[in-house]
Amino acid sequence: MASNRDYYEVLGLDRNASEKDIQQAYRKLSKKYHPDLNKAPGAEQKFKEVNEAYEVLHDPQKRSRYDQFGQAGVNGQQGFNGQASGQYGDFNGFGGFSDIFNDFFGGGTSGGRVDPTGPKRGQDLDYTMTISFMDAITGKTTDITYTRSETCPTCGGNGAQKGTHPITCDKCHGTGMMTVTHQTMFGMVQQETVCDKCSGQGTIVEHPCETCHGEGVVDHKQTLEVKVPAGIDNGQQIRLSGQGEAGRNGGPYGDLYIVFRIQPSHEFVRRGTTIYTQVPISFAQAALGDEIKVKTVHGTADLNIPAGTQPSAKFTLRGQGVPYLHGNGKGDQEVTINIDIPKKLNAKQKEALVSYVKASGDNITPQEKNFFERLKDKLG
Ligand SMILES: [Zn+2]
Ligand SMILES: [Zn+2]
Repeated sequence: MASNRDYYEVLGLDRNASEKDIQQAYRKLSKKYHPDLNKAPGAEQKFKEVNEAYEVLHDPQKRSRYDQFGQAGVNGQQGFNGQASGQYGDFNGFGGFSDIFNDFFGGGTSGGRVDPTGPKRGQDLDYTMTISFMDAITGKTTDITYTRSETCPTCGGNGAQKGTHPITCDKCHGTGMMTVTHQTMFGMVQQETVCDKCSGQGTIVEHPCETCHGEGVVDHKQTLEVKVPAGIDNGQQIRLSGQGEAGRNGGPYGDLYIVFRIQPSHEFVRRGTTIYTQVPISFAQAALGDEIKVKTVHGTADLNIPAGTQPSAKFTLRGQGVPYLHGNGKGDQEVTINIDIPKKLNAKQKEALVSYVKASGDNITPQEKNFFERLKDKLG
């Protein structure tokens, strides 16, 4: 446990002790109370105190915090927002320091100052558009309607009634910033903050505009024509520059981002620019080969099935996939072959297949009915 004794007192030093003084005192005292060298009662406790004091005082940062805040400053207690720390004034638990620092100084420890009266760009807006699978492939033009803020047409954005003008704020003299003084455990702290009289505008509207009630912006429902690019994919977005919210103090409009959701297809599977389909062919087509027509997202395409095609064989139809978003050309379509086994055969077909078996030199025992039908017959 941390000792309650003053660290300077433990080392027999005063508060102005130099780093060298601390080193010397530590060497002397740690030797004097070392448990291997000193078996007197209480020596071990003293040795621990000496180490604890040295741990803090030989580190300029820890020493400075100890000087200002005492042990609370080095062991994470008393509202320092850190966990209780290790026994020799370990600073790992002291993470709260920067937090409280930010609380006191308004987080103003990083970044440049922003002039609250300067032009501010408007917020960007998101719009989710759901389109069909085929529209994503061919592209289309469509209208969207949404609400955004626009610069008030009556006052031009300054919020003042027609014929009047905003006046300079007398509290901040037009800067939009004011200085407040806090009493903290660091002493008196001055902090720059946004003016509370004009909300940082630097001006005050005495006679608010009737259209926007002094806001300078009004909500407006607008309809836009959107060109959906051919080949757009799920989750992709396009940006419509300047179609977001109105800026402030003469700043530009934000942008509108349209995010696309693509509905799935019953016939096609899409991965990027590749289209995947499954095509059923007969056993005879697979064995003998054939020329077939395959459905594509653009219509149909010819596919040559070579003799001896196996189940799950894959064929690529070049250029039958999704158009590339950037640049010319299209992806491919990948066709997977399924071989259909007929569920029922007529007498002629059976005869032909039996001849086929004989011609192959095989001997088989054809089953008239399938397993479940035979089971049903057995059970009556
Ligand atoms: Zn207005
Ligand atoms: Zn002000």
